[in-house]
Amino acid sequence: MNKIKQIPVLERVAKANEIFVNEIRENFRKNDIICFNIMGSPGCGKTTFIENTILKLKDKKKIAVIEGDLATTIDAERIRDLGVDVFQINTGAMCHLDARLIREALAKMDLSNIDLLFIENVGNLVCPSSHDLGEDYRIILASVPEGPHKPKKYPVIYKEADVVVITKADLLEHFPDFTVETLFGHAKEIKPDIITFKVALKGKEIIMDEWIQWLLNAKPNNR
Ligand code: MG
Ligand code: ZN
Repeated sequence: MNKIKQIPVLERVAKANEIFVNEIRENFRKNDIICFNIMGSPGCGKTTFIENTILKLKDKKKIAVIEGDLATTIDAERIRDLGVDVFQINTGAMCHLDARLIREALAKMDLSNIDLLFIENVGNLVCPSSHDLGEDYRIILASVPEGPHKPKKYPVIYKEADVVVITKADLLEHFPDFTVETLFGHAKEIKPDIITFKVALKGKEIIMDEWIQWLLNAKPNNR
């Protein structure tokens, strides 16, 4: 009895989500926006990665950011300080973003003034993978201090990702167990065509040219 009742509810939720996703996509196509969902564990460098991408591209592209965070606006303030439009979503107890929240945020943003939209997902390697936000690309970050085995431990989020980026690559010399080949190898076992980049900081120099090149050439992608 219980089970029969639950199935239609789940179907209704899935259906509603699909409607939101389609609406978000239509909005992105209409406004020539390409959207990137940035995912990774807490502390892997998602905000820094978005900040540095902004620093590299601010003069070339109109960028906006949606910040997902359980409770604070700390990351959003960092982005705002770069002079970029940022919309904060505080998820409270919820450990991921969903299409309903993104749709609400987009309704309050000036979409005609955006080329590239970055969504910083909640730091979590589990449930963001099962929530389609209408994004064009899913980017999973793996920082060097986390070790090379995250793709093996969290295969679902890697399977659903389009791009994997090794962050904090400047620390490689301090983590002999972590090699770029090992991490990318594990990721490709799960998702053979995953696109791979690594980024690093050398003093004040931001090393992410290959990622930036790819980003500038990224096409709309109704995934
Ligand atoms: Mg952050
Ligand atoms: Zn969650």
